[in-house]
Amino acid sequence: MLDMLQYKDVESLTVAHRECQACRLRQGCKQVVISRGSPTARLMLVGEGPGANEDAQGKVFVGAAGQLLDKILVAAELPQKDIYMTNVVKCRPPGNRLPKSDEVKACMPWLERQIELISPRLIICLGALAGKALIDPNLRITRERGQWHKYRGIDIVATFHPAALLRDPSRKRPVWEDFKVIRDYYRKLREE
Ligand code: URA
Repeated sequence: MLDMLQYKDVESLTVAHRECQACRLRQGCKQVVISRGSPTARLMLVGEGPGANEDAQGKVFVGAAGQLLDKILVAAELPQKDIYMTNVVKCRPPGNRLPKSDEVKACMPWLERQIELISPRLIICLGALAGKALIDPNLRITRERGQWHKYRGIDIVATFHPAALLRDPSRKRPVWEDFKVIRDYYRKLREE
């Protein structure tokens, strides 16, 4: 088992993570895709896993879902400089299938250490996979989105994944309701 505590900052963790071969996903993708944004961010967004565009460009959330996400962040007045985005798994699953539970398990120590080192004030889980990984393995996203919890003392909330909004525009309204609460939370953070 890798000793994650040897990584004392986000940069060294990221460099080591790029070499990861812990599960089968690495064989089927071009590169390990870890993050986008600031390692000192107060807001951390956690998606599912890289898609084809992310695998090609080496950055998270750069495809259609990422572009929609960026628009939501602008609308909610959440600045990129205070945001760090990552995914539960860092290697693109073949054909964009859902990551399997053993693949999630193999990648979790990295995500846990990312959270420790970034130490955000709020974690926003985008979609059920991130919500199950960080809030509750039995989380039902349709029922439990927008509910606030704690992850090791850090505020955490789940909402629908932006790709789900592209497939089903009726989900835009609930996501906007969730982001309005996040916007108000962030406004208060800025006043601290
Ligand atoms: N979907 C995700 O969950 N993450 C990405 O980085 C891109 C699309």
